[in-house]
Amino acid sequence: MASLQSISSWDRQYDLVIAGFGLAAMCAAIEAHDLDPRLSILILEKADEATSGGNSRVAGQSLLISKNAEVLAEYQRKMSVANPIPEDLLVPWSEAMAALEPWIQERAAQAGAEFIHGTGFSERDAVLEFPEFGAREAVHCTATILPIPSGVYLAFRENVRQRPRIEIAYETPLRDLVQDPDTLEVFGVIAEHGGQRVAIRANKGVVMAVGGYEASPDMQRNYYGLSDVAPLGSPHNTGDGIRILQKAGADLWHMRNQGQSGGIWPGYRPDGWVNGFLRNFFWQSFSWIEVDANSERFYNETAELQLTHYKEKKHGRWVDTPHYRAAPVHMIFDATTCQYNKLVVEMMSWNPVVGGYRWSDDNTAEVEKGWIQKADSIEELAEKIGREPAKLRATVERYNAACRDRRDADFQRNPDTLYPIADGPFYAMRIDPVIVCTGGGARRNIRSEVLDHAGKPIPRLYEAGELGSMFSDLYQNGSYLTEAMISGRAAGREIAALSAWQDRP
Ligand SMILES: Cc1cc2nc3c(=O)[nH]c(=O)nc-3n(C[C@H](O)[C@H](O)[C@H](O)COP(=O)(O)OP(=O)(O)OC[C@H]3O[C@@H](n4cnc5c(N)ncnc54)[C@H](O)[C@@H]3O)c2cc1C
Repeated sequence: MASLQSISSWDRQYDLVIAGFGLAAMCAAIEAHDLDPRLSILILEKADEATSGGNSRVAGQSLLISKNAEVLAEYQRKMSVANPIPEDLLVPWSEAMAALEPWIQERAAQAGAEFIHGTGFSERDAVLEFPEFGAREAVHCTATILPIPSGVYLAFRENVRQRPRIEIAYETPLRDLVQDPDTLEVFGVIAEHGGQRVAIRANKGVVMAVGGYEASPDMQRNYYGLSDVAPLGSPHNTGDGIRILQKAGADLWHMRNQGQSGGIWPGYRPDGWVNGFLRNFFWQSFSWIEVDANSERFYNETAELQLTHYKEKKHGRWVDTPHYRAAPVHMIFDATTCQYNKLVVEMMSWNPVVGGYRWSDDNTAEVEKGWIQKADSIEELAEKIGREPAKLRATVERYNAACRDRRDADFQRNPDTLYPIADGPFYAMRIDPVIVCTGGGARRNIRSEVLDHAGKPIPRLYEAGELGSMFSDLYQNGSYLTEAMISGRAAGREIAALSAWQDRP
């Protein structure tokens, strides 16, 4: 932290300073502005304008809509049994959720965008992750704002644009907080622009909404317990908030959940890239398997794991699928699967949505790039990916025999998805674990106040969105974006009601 004494003069001053320009930050700014349009509001964003927007911009844009607060609270309670969410956060959160839809509809209407029920990219009216915990009763539906991709993000960005007293400073990362070393009260921030340190006074308060640590390999290893997982979201989310909150005296939580909420998904990260692609989960044909480091199958590949954020039930509990433990993993497939299935998803994630990468429909461009290996026989394919030919051949033959029997004794794959790997040439793509979110950050309350190690709010310091997310363990689709709205709005509302701090003698 920087002390007030270290600031000889402020370079700029605002009533409210918000760090990060994702959905949580936008909601904080919109709410504060609408409560008091005279407030001066600054949003500090680390990225340039073209690559701003965080995970919010590249998310699947699914919003959880619930109409029954009590039932929703009970559902989340059951999902978080391994690390219970405090009741004085859980209960008011569920009440805010049950009341949220009209406000989202207003934001869509204000942006001239269409709010719809459904995901927008599948036939489902709702993604019900854990029915045995009460998903059907708790989830009224899934909703989104068009267009695809990025519809929710675009509508909220338009809402911000329509409020001219909200300023945005791109390429200006938050670096530190200015605080009283005894009371921890926050007076302003230190940001950086063009290599220069900028001291910005925040008359009323500061909101930290800088997202997670997905793009920090070091934090991945130390907090997540994984190495070599690739982010699907913003490469700018490198855990800056966690470092700053540690210095600020905040109590950290949810750095790693028992089942990491957003899940560890199968994907592909080209060598040297920061971000991974998300492997497709809408299949036209099923002549494919995945093999682990021993060239053996290791799970039920065609279970609809996208519906549970890649959690499968083991020993009576929902846990992450074992991709990160099974590495190196390869997907082995034949010509039919290659021809009729684009291997990655393009309606979400960074590489297609912001990076603009267009994966070829029949994967031929990626074969040419060497991202996918091709061979005339399984043995030749095995050589190309550094595996023992006889072992890979045996695994494929065992799987093909299961297809003939229409019975997968090893992993109980749905018989309707048992198609043999028979139609050469044959292909292999390395499967890298990719992650959606990291929820860790500072412990906070329903007012979005950051709590210190004694459980007391740090005066004038607020946090919203994925940084310090309340969710622990399991996660219901659409909860992160709506949490960004609820926690962002709470922070904006609370700060708008504060009086400005006065200069110390
Ligand atoms: C592929 C994918 C799919 C998803 N699908 C869904 C979904 O369908 N539904 C759902 O509810 N959730 C989904 N999520 C999760 C959801 O997107 C995030 O939890 C949510 O967007 C977080 O919003 P946020 O505002 O907290 O952070 P972000 O949107 O990540 O914004 C953080 C911002 O902070 C900026 N920043 C970082 N460091 C600094 C700094 N030092 N100073 C200033 N700025 C900084 C970043 O550049 C970024 O713009 C998905 C996520 C991913 C990656």
